[in-house]
Amino acid sequence: MSITALRPTMRASRATIRGVALRRTFSSTTHNQASWGFIGLGQMGYNMAKNLRQKIPKEDTLYIQDVNSAATAKFVTEFPGADIIVSKTAREVAENAETIVSALPNPPLVKSVYESILSPGALPKFQNERLFIDTSTIDPTTSISVAETISQKGEGSFIDAPMSGGVVGASAGTLSFMLGCPDTLVPRATKVLSLMGRKVIHMGPPGSGLKAKLANNYLLALNNIAASEAMHMGIAWGLKPADLAGLINISTGKCWPSEVNNPVPGVVATSPASRNYDGGFGVALMNKDLKLALKACADANVSTALGDKAAEVYSAVEGDAELKSKDFSVVYRWLGGKE
Ligand code: NAD
Repeated sequence: MSITALRPTMRASRATIRGVALRRTFSSTTHNQASWGFIGLGQMGYNMAKNLRQKIPKEDTLYIQDVNSAATAKFVTEFPGADIIVSKTAREVAENAETIVSALPNPPLVKSVYESILSPGALPKFQNERLFIDTSTIDPTTSISVAETISQKGEGSFIDAPMSGGVVGASAGTLSFMLGCPDTLVPRATKVLSLMGRKVIHMGPPGSGLKAKLANNYLLALNNIAASEAMHMGIAWGLKPADLAGLINISTGKCWPSEVNNPVPGVVATSPASRNYDGGFGVALMNKDLKLALKACADANVSTALGDKAAEVYSAVEGDAELKSKDFSVVYRWLGGKE
C-alpha cells in the first residue's frame, strides 16, 4: 500500500478525539481553514481542485475523491510533495474535511453521494460547522432536499453554487458561481469559491443558485436555436453571413449566440463554429441543462411555450453520431445551415 493510501486512517485517528476534530478550524481567514475536500474530479472538478490546491496554504490538507481512480492518481502527481490525501469514499472526505466542494454529473449521483456521506451515522464535529458546496448543475428540488437532510441531521450546511465558464474558466480559475444559501454563509462561501472563480453572485436561499443557472441556460438554449435559424434563413435568402451577423449585433436580435458564439463558421474567428464546432459547450450538456430547467418548471407548475420543442431539437442533435460531441451551436448544421 502506498503512503498516500495509508494516510487517511492515520489522519483520522490523529485528528479525532471523542468526536471532536482538533485541527485548526477558524473560518475567519482562508489561511485557517485547514482541511478541504473535493469530490468529483472530472472535466470541471479536476481543474477547480487544482486551483484550490494551488491557492490554499501549503500546510493545509486537501482530501480528494472520485470513482475514477485514474483521475485522483493523476491529480496527486501534479503536486509532488503536497498535502493531498486520496480518500476511498466521499464519507471519508467528509470525516476529515471541514469545507467540501463537489462537482458531480447529475441529480441522482449528487443524492447518492450525499446519502453515502450521511448514512453510516454521525460525522465527527469540527469547531466550525462543516460546509458542503455543491457546484453541480442539478434540479433545485433535489438540491434543497439534500440541504434539508444535512441540516436536519446537524451535519453542517449544504449550499448550491452552480457555475458557468466551462472547462476554460475552471482551468483559469475564472468561473462565475451562482449561490443559493442563507445570508450568513455568503462571506465564507464567497471566500472559498473565489479560489476557483472570479464572480460569486448570491441569488437567495438554498436552491436559488440553481434556479438562476437553469433560467439562464434555458434562455441560452432557445437563443442558440433562434440565432441558428435566423442566420440560416438570411443566408438562404442570399445575405452575406458577416453582413447579417453585423446587422443583428447592432439591432434588437442581438444575443450571446449571435455576437460571441455565432453558429456560422467564419463569422466570429474565435467561436467553436470557426474550428469545426470543436471545444465550447457540448450538445449533451446543453440538453441536460434544458431538461433540468423543464423539470424544475414542472416541479413549480410553470408552463413554457418553447421548452419542449427546444428539447426535441437538442435530443435530435445529440442523437446524431457526427454532431453529438460538438459545441451546441452545431444546431446550425442540423438545421441544414451552410456558409
Ligand atoms: P464530468 O462528467 O467530466 O465529471 C464528473 C466526475 O464525477 C467524474 O470524474 C466522475 O468519475 C465523478 N463521479 C461520478 N460518480 C461519482 C461518485 N459516485 N463519487 C465520486 N465521483 C463521482 O462532469 P463535468 O463536466 O466536470 O461537470 C460537473 C458538473 O458541472 C455537472 O453537473 C455539469 O453539468 C456542471 N457544469 C459543467 C460544465 C462544463 O463545461 N463541463 C460547465 C458548467 C457546469
